[in-house]
Amino acid sequence: MPRDPRYDILFEPVRIGPVTAPNRFYQVPQCNGMGRLYPDSMIAMRGMKAEGGWGIVATEQCDFHPTGDVTAYCETKLWDDTDVPYLAGMCNAVHEHGGLAAVELVHNGHDTGNLYSREVPIGPMHRPVTWLSHPVQARAMDLDDIRAYRRWHRKGALRARQAGFDIVVVYAGHDGAMPSHFLARRHNQRTDEYGGSLENRLRFYRELLEDTLEAVGDTMGVVARFAVDEMMGPDGLEWENEGRDAIEMMAELPHMWDVNVSDWDNDSMTSRFAPEGYQEDYVAFVKQMTSKPVATVGRYTSPDAMVSAIRRGIVDMIGAARPSIADPFLPKKIEEGRPEDIRECIGCNICAAWNNLSAPSRCTQNPTFGEEWRKDWHPEQIAPKGSNAHILVVGAGPAGLEAAHALGKRGYRVTLAEARTEAGGRVTRESALPNLNAWARVRDYRLGQIAPMTNVEMYLESALNAEQILEFGADHVAIATGSTWRRDGVGRAVRNPIAGADADRSFSPDDIMDGKRPPKGPVIVFDDDHYYMGNMMADLLAGEGHQVTLATPGLCVASWTEYTLEQRHIEKRLVALGVEILSRHCVESVGDGVVEIVNMVTGERIEAAGMLVPVTMRLPNDRLYDALMAEPAKLEAAGIKSVRRIGDCYGPATIAAAVYEGHRYARELDTEIDPDGVPFKTVKYELELGG
Ligand code: ADP
Ligand code: SF4
Repeated sequence: MPRDPRYDILFEPVRIGPVTAPNRFYQVPQCNGMGRLYPDSMIAMRGMKAEGGWGIVATEQCDFHPTGDVTAYCETKLWDDTDVPYLAGMCNAVHEHGGLAAVELVHNGHDTGNLYSREVPIGPMHRPVTWLSHPVQARAMDLDDIRAYRRWHRKGALRARQAGFDIVVVYAGHDGAMPSHFLARRHNQRTDEYGGSLENRLRFYRELLEDTLEAVGDTMGVVARFAVDEMMGPDGLEWENEGRDAIEMMAELPHMWDVNVSDWDNDSMTSRFAPEGYQEDYVAFVKQMTSKPVATVGRYTSPDAMVSAIRRGIVDMIGAARPSIADPFLPKKIEEGRPEDIRECIGCNICAAWNNLSAPSRCTQNPTFGEEWRKDWHPEQIAPKGSNAHILVVGAGPAGLEAAHALGKRGYRVTLAEARTEAGGRVTRESALPNLNAWARVRDYRLGQIAPMTNVEMYLESALNAEQILEFGADHVAIATGSTWRRDGVGRAVRNPIAGADADRSFSPDDIMDGKRPPKGPVIVFDDDHYYMGNMMADLLAGEGHQVTLATPGLCVASWTEYTLEQRHIEKRLVALGVEILSRHCVESVGDGVVEIVNMVTGERIEAAGMLVPVTMRLPNDRLYDALMAEPAKLEAAGIKSVRRIGDCYGPATIAAAVYEGHRYARELDTEIDPDGVPFKTVKYELELGG
């Protein structure tokens, strides 16, 4: 189908200095935990975005000197010429599909540990390193250091050109880069020409831009990536004050502006805390100050919102990291007149979490992300079916839905049976929790894709038992029946059931999501899960008027959400809701309307009035699987060749893991898998052994 003319504007070329982007889709620099350690994966992933129509595809951060060494994160680097070849590989992969390749040159200043290089960190001032409270200090750069730094940056730009990049992004964002440290009054109290007035604090960044323009600006686009607001009031840069002044002072200097807010927690807010396009309020002024193209991000997934942002004069380029992960083919789908096929990002930040865990990034919506090279998984293509088998998928949660979707795409005949009145499993239930409505996209995308498939049938209100499955007579059965939260408190900190935690006194998240409620009054949420469910229960119940205490063995509430960039936002929200937070506390026992809590440091015991909501762990719903497997003769008689558990029924985990397992099941059906082998390609290192 031809594209809707409403969207033509998205496909106009944009000039960026000496280069021209073929359209307005800009995959902004985006860290992904692959980088230099998994270069083949990184190259294939970037190439896939270009194939999917992104006009500019940028690297993650690319470090240009050992004094800014971000080990243990897996970023790219251009320290010397040995780094050029794999980045050239990325450029080739992007160019093959007509995209422009961009590199973001980064030095994290006092926000690095230099664990690998062992160089002494540097910054505008003598300051403790901010990265992980690492016990070393950054030393203040003198004028010689500044000259050396400019030289390193310039060499980085020249090496980038050697690698084949078309664009250099000069980075001052996220409170994590040297130029932003120079710019911030709280980090820079220098008394020389690089400190004091805004003009002086901006000097360092201006010089880097000028150096880059002078070194490569004749053939490469030079983009200023700049945070105009630090979202910390007068303690930081504010767009109405110094943010605006800074842009004004450099308005025509770069070939393009890529503007955002700082720090990363604010820039990449989850959908729980910010809607699509929320940065517009902060960056809208920039276009009025410059004739150069302007880009910003905002988790845009709707082509109408993108067109609107351009027509309203907010931006020229649509920047995206997460939407390009969830759907590398987003531009192509708009171009081909099928925007309804876009797999929309749900704003959960699982992608960021894996990067922050120094592992190859994963996506909840796109199970092929990070698997493009390793498993040869293409997000839009899948092998045709390997047989005429009929597959029964039991359970229409994320695992079952994705299995049915991908099997259907392969051409198999699929029957999907769901016990409830609505498909979606945990996604449907969890997306009804406060501010998680975007998560329903995991269900809606798959239902939308399955709907036109004549080879896939779905039956709701169809709770199957073993006899019915045997009678049904499918060739293969996938059991995707999910998992159930425990009610007895067993988990990481508590190894035996909490005394008294029975169905009358203890409400699991499943109970709450099913609409059951403790009597009005105090509630004690015991969070030994440390991700979102514990604080969600507190959020929901406090919002409904319960007086909520959240007790957790963790050092802080929702400690794992540091990785999803949410911890700060969650804590703030709970405090605003009046939730009392007890960290390093564990639940000992439950009585009638009273919960005994113990301080794990002092041993002090507290008798807290209230009902218990333990959020600790889930158990797989695998009784159906066990019942089927208990009678192999019956399976054989029924002609069932395989029974497999997928998703939470096999191993309770994230929604991303359930989608991945469902997808994997579909990909692997009728293929040979060596049960003793590594189920993906691994990186081959060439070792320099000497002699
Ligand atoms: P996952 O995350 O692994 O997809 P979910 O818990 O989200 O797991 O989904 C499991 C789905 O399976 C739920 O919608 C549940 O209603 C459904 N289900 C559980 N048991 C049966 C059964 N015996 N027959 C059909 N559907 C079932
Ligand atoms: Fe979006 Fe979540 Fe995928 Fe990241 S992991 S791209 S936030 S859906």
